[in-house]
Amino acid sequence: MVSKIVFGRGSFSQLGEILEPKRVNRNAPFIYFVDDVFKGNAWLTSRIPLAYDDKIIYVSAAEEPKTSQIDQLVEQIILDYKERPSGIIGIGGGCIMDVAKAVSIMLNNDGESKDYQGWDLVKNPAVYHVGVPTISGTGAEVSRTTILTGPERKLGINSDFTPFDQVILDPELTKDVPKDQWFYTGMDCYVHCIESLNGTYLNAFSKTYGETAYELCKEIFLSDHLTAEEAQDKLMMASWHGGMSIAYSQVGVAHAMSYGLGYLLGVKHGIGNCIVFDHLEEYYPEGVKLFKQMKEKHNIQLPQGICANLKDKEFDTMIGVALSLEPLWENAIGKNWKKKITPEVLKALYQKM
Ligand code: NAD
Ligand code: ZN
Repeated sequence: MVSKIVFGRGSFSQLGEILEPKRVNRNAPFIYFVDDVFKGNAWLTSRIPLAYDDKIIYVSAAEEPKTSQIDQLVEQIILDYKERPSGIIGIGGGCIMDVAKAVSIMLNNDGESKDYQGWDLVKNPAVYHVGVPTISGTGAEVSRTTILTGPERKLGINSDFTPFDQVILDPELTKDVPKDQWFYTGMDCYVHCIESLNGTYLNAFSKTYGETAYELCKEIFLSDHLTAEEAQDKLMMASWHGGMSIAYSQVGVAHAMSYGLGYLLGVKHGIGNCIVFDHLEEYYPEGVKLFKQMKEKHNIQLPQGICANLKDKEFDTMIGVALSLEPLWENAIGKNWKKKITPEVLKALYQKM
């Protein structure tokens, strides 16, 4: 779990005092990975407390992080500085959270990041790392994974060293998120709740967090009584609780299939989950019904026909990626999932998207 958290509007301004005691020495910088959407945004960047050799590296979130990108960033840091950084700080959405987590792990572990995709393969603790989310929903700020696209698969580095040492939850940072993106990333949280609460892995720990996040999502996306600030505060807490819920259970059908879309077509996590979830009535009837209401209320038009022109080989690739995520299917369907979930079933679903 994340060991330290601060929450509150404006709490981002505490970054300096939080980091100060963590500085190893003058030669060991703090490296900030900042979403490049904030380039030139003085409101945010003027509060980043740079000293000595500290550096801001702007990272684009246009594409999800790749293992090759992580390896390159790590190499650059090792070449540029005499000492290992005092800390890595990620400021942005799920993409930037994952970059910060992965780089901090790889600075202290040999080899390439693709070698660590999987469960509990990391040997050494990561460099001190801090997460500052600027958009809510993925739960990447709280999870024990960092999702990377590698040469062979899209899979997380899941380990006890992955979670942040410190998270700053300042809902004010999310105030300029574009509407569609707000919906897609917010729905990632909603889907986490549905998949966790309807999964066979469910337990009292996950259920408690999942139910809290689910109720918050209903309030945020279906009610009319919240102010913008209240909605930002609540979505940030929903994201946290949704992330905690899946940390002790698992996601399900939407995530497995969305990973396939992401791997083959580069469809991003949030919108990919929405595209898939829209067609999952058979698996999550109640959840999909509410999702469609939310979509309508916020006037969201999802892309259609994204699989229309795919060749058989491409379907096979997507289906292969989806089916390889065995724990997700076992959670969603049960131990005998292979009897129900066949390549044909998945192809028919993908063809609808
Ligand atoms: P994102 O990082 O992909 O960003 C989405 C868009 O929002 C980008 O264009 C970004 O520039 C913009 N943005 C972010 N904050 C903004 C702000 N305050 N104002 C204006 N624009 C802003 O968004 P996401 O949906 O949070 O993250 C998706 C990524 O998270 C995927 O790579 C996915 O694999 C990963 N993910 C990780 C976990 C995990 O547990 N590690 C869980 C779910 C998803
Ligand atoms: Zn997700």
